Amino acid sequence: MVVIMKPHFTPEQLQEAIQAMKAGGVQVNISKGAETTVLGAEGDAARIDQELLEQLPGVERVMRVTEPYKKANRKYHPDDTVVPLGGGAAVGGKKLAVIAGPCSVESAEQITCVARAVQKSGACALRGGAFKPRTSPYAFQGLECQGLELLQKAKEATGLPIVTEIMSTEYVELFEECVDVIQVGARNMQNFALLKALGRRTTKPILLKRGLSSTIEEWLMSAEYILAGGNPNVILCERGIRTFETFTRNTLDLSAVLAVKTLSHLPVVVDPSHACGKAWMVERMAMAAVAAGADGLMIEVHNDPKNALCDGAQSLTPEQFQGVMDRLAALAPCMGREV
Ligand code: PEP
Ligand code: MN
Repeated sequence: MVVIMKPHFTPEQLQEAIQAMKAGGVQVNISKGAETTVLGAEGDAARIDQELLEQLPGVERVMRVTEPYKKANRKYHPDDTVVPLGGGAAVGGKKLAVIAGPCSVESAEQITCVARAVQKSGACALRGGAFKPRTSPYAFQGLECQGLELLQKAKEATGLPIVTEIMSTEYVELFEECVDVIQVGARNMQNFALLKALGRRTTKPILLKRGLSSTIEEWLMSAEYILAGGNPNVILCERGIRTFETFTRNTLDLSAVLAVKTLSHLPVVVDPSHACGKAWMVERMAMAAVAAGADGLMIEVHNDPKNALCDGAQSLTPEQFQGVMDRLAALAPCMGREV
């Protein structure tokens, strides 16, 4: 249940409404937006006296939230959430957040060289996998802890915050220490033990990728796990879903961007690299994502895509990435954004 306060409610009227909700056995989340203040019931709202609430002088309207996600729901939190990434960067505001870097960290030279290049082109954060979820156990699995160290070196060299994927709850504290944004990969979107740990044991921003065959509601319910655990910093990432089409690696669901921006207050970024699997498609799909209302992008960039240990076919060279940033700079103002 959410209670929408009148525009000029008094502090006493606010307390009155909160008390009436608490009397129904729930905790109350207060969301003070630019235009409206909304009180959200946390817990089972069945015992709240709706009629009584509706008659209170400071209350404009009372709504039952029928969707199963509550904290992720825009009804709870009408204003867009802005998630800080570190280094002064944020996602969810007017400025588009472009996260770029290789699929995997391969060496100190590689990650630092790519970090410098993407920073020069205007990326606000560096991505790079240290722990890689690979379909084959014989494929390169990532440099693991050494990869985290190399990411930190690249951060020291550039100041860019680092985004990297976590695969197990055992690493939450380590990631808390040395990572700026923790990525949950598509394959782990419904790893509920991991989601709970990321809700309870850290407040670092979580970049939650959509599962390969997850519905929008399932994706938002996964975000809900993290929010319910107490971590408010969730960024959603649309990275394509599995369909019958085989030409592209996945099918980029851009309508999902619009859907989640309407249903939820959480920021959304789009990963055109994993969605298409083809470097030549990335620029146009990145632009389409911005036109669809994405708050940012995550793009794979490699200094030598042909010899990349992972996802070379979809990785841009630093020069190609610069080209994408130039096109985005031209497009952004049309969408009320900046780069
Ligand atoms: C990645 O970002 O490197 C990755 C593995 O992506 P996804 O989980 O979307 O497949
Ligand atoms: Mn990849």
